[in-house]
Amino acid sequence: MSLALFRWSAVLLACLFTTAVLAAEARPRRKTKAAKLVHIDGGHRLHRDAASALQRMTLDAAKHDVALRVTSGYRSLPEQRVLYEQYRRGRGNKAARPGRSNHQRGLAVDLVIGKRTSKRYQWLEANACRFGFRRTVPSEPWHWEYRPSSTFPPVVGHDCTGKEVKRPKPTPEPVARQDAS
Ligand SMILES: [Zn+2]
Repeated sequence: MSLALFRWSAVLLACLFTTAVLAAEARPRRKTKAAKLVHIDGGHRLHRDAASALQRMTLDAAKHDVALRVTSGYRSLPEQRVLYEQYRRGRGNKAARPGRSNHQRGLAVDLVIGKRTSKRYQWLEANACRFGFRRTVPSEPWHWEYRPSSTFPPVVGHDCTGKEVKRPKPTPEPVARQDAS
């Protein structure tokens, strides 16, 4: 192979590689198969892994008088299209382009939050990471995604925001009476 031909081949290969990478990035998020979806309260559906983590989180929140309520879970492509169109017309909450939302994978939930100063929101900020949930869209405090592989539990003695957690002092165990032998 001549040097010029070799150079051209290298350029061609580089172009093909770049195209492949760009195509992979532009590919819409994979949909979740219906078999992996389960029903949750409120008539919504979620990926089964996200649903069981959400259930554990909801139970823990309830222990602290925080009621978590879902307003949106899994969305089919047509449902996402409708929401996106509403958003585009200025008639709805911000919604991702169809094919680009983790709601379509059943891994995102929208929760009733209230203000960012609400007890609910603050509890979520401090605790959701323990269950694999985190916020991914800065402008949407109600939108939480289940991302267990990249969401880490807090350091011992701290909450998810890094704040130190005051633990109640453990009540001392009653000392077993030692009978004289
Ligand atoms: Zn959402």
